[in-house]
Amino acid sequence: MRIIVAGGDGFCGWPTALYLSEKGHEVTIVDNLVRRKYDEELNSNSVTPIASLEERVAKWNEITGKEIKVYEGDLNHYDFLSLVFKQERPEAFVHFAEQRSAPYSMIDREHAVYTHQNNVIGNLNVLYAIKEFEPDCHLIKLGTMGEYGQPNIDIEEGYIEVEHKGRKDVLPYPKQPGSFYHLTKVHDTDNIMFACKIWGIRATDLNQGVVYGLNTEETLKDPVLVNRLDYDAIFGTALNRFITQAAIGHDMTVYGAGGQTRGYLNIKDTVRCVEIAAENPADKGEFRVFNQFTESFSVLELAQKVQEVAKDLGIDVEVSNVENPRVEKEEHYYNAVNTALIDLGLEPHLLTDDVLKEILEHCLQHKDRIIVDNVLPKVTWK
Ligand code: NAD
Repeated sequence: MRIIVAGGDGFCGWPTALYLSEKGHEVTIVDNLVRRKYDEELNSNSVTPIASLEERVAKWNEITGKEIKVYEGDLNHYDFLSLVFKQERPEAFVHFAEQRSAPYSMIDREHAVYTHQNNVIGNLNVLYAIKEFEPDCHLIKLGTMGEYGQPNIDIEEGYIEVEHKGRKDVLPYPKQPGSFYHLTKVHDTDNIMFACKIWGIRATDLNQGVVYGLNTEETLKDPVLVNRLDYDAIFGTALNRFITQAAIGHDMTVYGAGGQTRGYLNIKDTVRCVEIAAENPADKGEFRVFNQFTESFSVLELAQKVQEVAKDLGIDVEVSNVENPRVEKEEHYYNAVNTALIDLGLEPHLLTDDVLKEILEHCLQHKDRIIVDNVLPKVTWK
């Protein structure tokens, strides 16, 4: 299959591009490399030393003989995107290419506006490009479980049957996002659903949980292929951030009470979920939603798990509850459905002590690169 991986230089996109290439698909990466520029802006870095995108794809070609094409450019530039569609004629378009940090979107007005322009307009351009150039192309769009918020009822996969004043309907599940970033995902969802309805586009919205881990079988083939690992308080996701803090002997900073519960998944499952979606495309006009996570944990549970594994490696690290920079529920009900991907064949890689140990060992190996000042939150929601 001809597959475009937009955002293919990022944490989820790079291992996905390699995995799909390994499986024999014709993979093309589209990326404007802005993630590397956020690092410069924030004086941050990946724990692992990552090679340039050019070096990465050249190494992949050298090792496997497989070619991954690269277009460096911005989804917000429609002329550029049109050219990519006309030249590559994608059968599936995997869309990772957004600004994905909630704290980044909450820095100030400029960052909120940038996040909305980058994400919402970029996605709208993708919808128009599909309509105009490849109406059969299957859009596989990365959404987030954060779109739903934390309602006091079970979270369904995209839709809920509602009975109201004696009548019934199946409606989009209510959204209660918790940051301007999460709001962009909700706006994307609405735009995609509308485009499917009016133009007959086929789309799968993967409402992904928080991703942890670092390597996949493919990224382990050579040090030049290593994936990025974010740890700072702006881009580091909960579990990866705790593991990094443990590696440098810093307290694991749990925000507030620590009862915030979310769905999580291993990066090895992210790549497989995208493959499953690609192999089982949505019907024409169908807007399909899968909840893409495998297990749920509270942030305090995660910190405690890391604490135990670190202890086995001779590292004593404390869990400290710091003032919550976010506005969010700290104790709440959380029960989300995630059966669609499992029914289509996903076999989850669960969060075992060995998995935690492996990530921690990578962080220990590169601990000199960690900028200690960056692990504490500086951006507040208020
Ligand atoms: P990332 O920031 O590491 O990667 C995103 C990539 O997209 C970067 O390489 C960036 O340069 C590129 N990009 C951004 N805007 C672009 C634009 N306008 N044009 C072209 N390229 C652009 O993020 P990630 O962690 O790999 O996340 C990928 C997707 O998955 C995002 O949409 C994110 O919202 C979603 N997601 C991620 C997580 C997670 O835990 N990492 C959880 C849920 C959902």
